[in-house]
Amino acid sequence: MRIIVQKFGGTSVANPESREKAVAKIIKAKNEGFSVVVVVSAMGRNGDPYATDTLINLAKSIGAPLDFRDLDLLLSCGEIIAAVVMAQALEKAGYPAIALSGGQAGIVTDQNFGEAKIIGINPENVLKRLGEGKIVVVAGFQGVTAGGEITTLGRGGSDTTATALGSALKAELVEIYTDVEGVMAVDPRIIPEAKILRELTYQEICEMANHGAKVVHPRAVAIARDQKVPLKVRSTFTEDIGTLIGDGKPTRVITGIAHQVKIGRVLVKAKNGQLTPEDSVKIFKVLAEAGISVDMNSISPGQVGFVVKQEVLDKVGELLASDDFLVELLPGCAKISLIGIGMQDVLGVMARVVETLHQHDIKLLHTVDSEITISCLVLEEQMEKAIKVLYNEFGL
Ligand code: ADP
Ligand code: ASP
Ligand code: MG
Repeated sequence: MRIIVQKFGGTSVANPESREKAVAKIIKAKNEGFSVVVVVSAMGRNGDPYATDTLINLAKSIGAPLDFRDLDLLLSCGEIIAAVVMAQALEKAGYPAIALSGGQAGIVTDQNFGEAKIIGINPENVLKRLGEGKIVVVAGFQGVTAGGEITTLGRGGSDTTATALGSALKAELVEIYTDVEGVMAVDPRIIPEAKILRELTYQEICEMANHGAKVVHPRAVAIARDQKVPLKVRSTFTEDIGTLIGDGKPTRVITGIAHQVKIGRVLVKAKNGQLTPEDSVKIFKVLAEAGISVDMNSISPGQVGFVVKQEVLDKVGELLASDDFLVELLPGCAKISLIGIGMQDVLGVMARVVETLHQHDIKLLHTVDSEITISCLVLEEQMEKAIKVLYNEFGL
């Protein structure tokens, strides 16, 4: 059996017109001889009746503390509704189809409600339905624990459903259909003329996704990389061939720029004298125990610096408040990451980044780098300008 997995995001299934486009892609694959597994996200964006954000707002509006187990049960409905609607649309077009929840598709997760990890897939049911000649439409973003509780996989998690199913079903190809024509060097919402990267390696896409390029979910591409699942990112709305992701050696010096917003910076200094190594240990331990993840960490004799998600910034302030520390909190930051697997062999990239930002009066708040990524923290209000000038400087 030649299996293809086609995943359609929220905007691709939002209304009858977009679903018609999606149906056409599915029928094309079916007519080419593929057994087709479709993965869908909840329909539309915030404000649309069954979109994930709408359901979150509904739960919040009640005013009771949110119970993560119950919230997952509610959120899973968005994708289930989309799966049934899509299966009906296929039936209407004359193609037998069946909708399955994540659990019915054999997706088993751990119990980490809201960010559950897939721990196994039993593909039996999906294979049986494909064997009956049906198009199988699976609700993305969800699974079930061994104890039968419904979980969700974290925001953007339908991509993960698609690559995990692709791996379990030994699919020939996984196609991620979305509202852009492929993976671009920069988010086209910031640089509309950004060009499509026609071929990408797993390493490049993983680095882009990990640093915030939200076109694909980091876990989804990590699964594709580890299981060697061939992946395409394409538009539901055009015929463009999109971006093909696979094995191979990266050829570019710089692949692209990713960004993350709503970040808060924390600087901790000692009130008297210098921070000791014990102080640093204490700071990071307190945060870890509170389940707060930190990024861009730097420790120097004078201070400890790091960033957190802005939503936990006040909590960090409370946790670190003590007579010994001076804690400085700065909300409204953004992290820009220049990604390039080939940059490890080139001198002077960091100098160009710093000089370019300086020349354009962009305040550099913090940097960290690895062999393949340079990340810069800037004020959110300067982020777009910073991305544009770096895009031009590196000729992306
Ligand atoms: P879907 O609902 O289909 O999963 P998403 O909104 O999650 O769609 O992802 C698609 C969006 O990702 C695009 O609209 C685009 O703004 C954004 N994006 C961010 N970085 C990139 C990039 N490097 N290339 C393409 N799109 C990107
Ligand atoms: N509907 C979920 C979300 O909005 C999952 C997804 O779209 O991939 O995060
Ligand atoms: Mg997405």
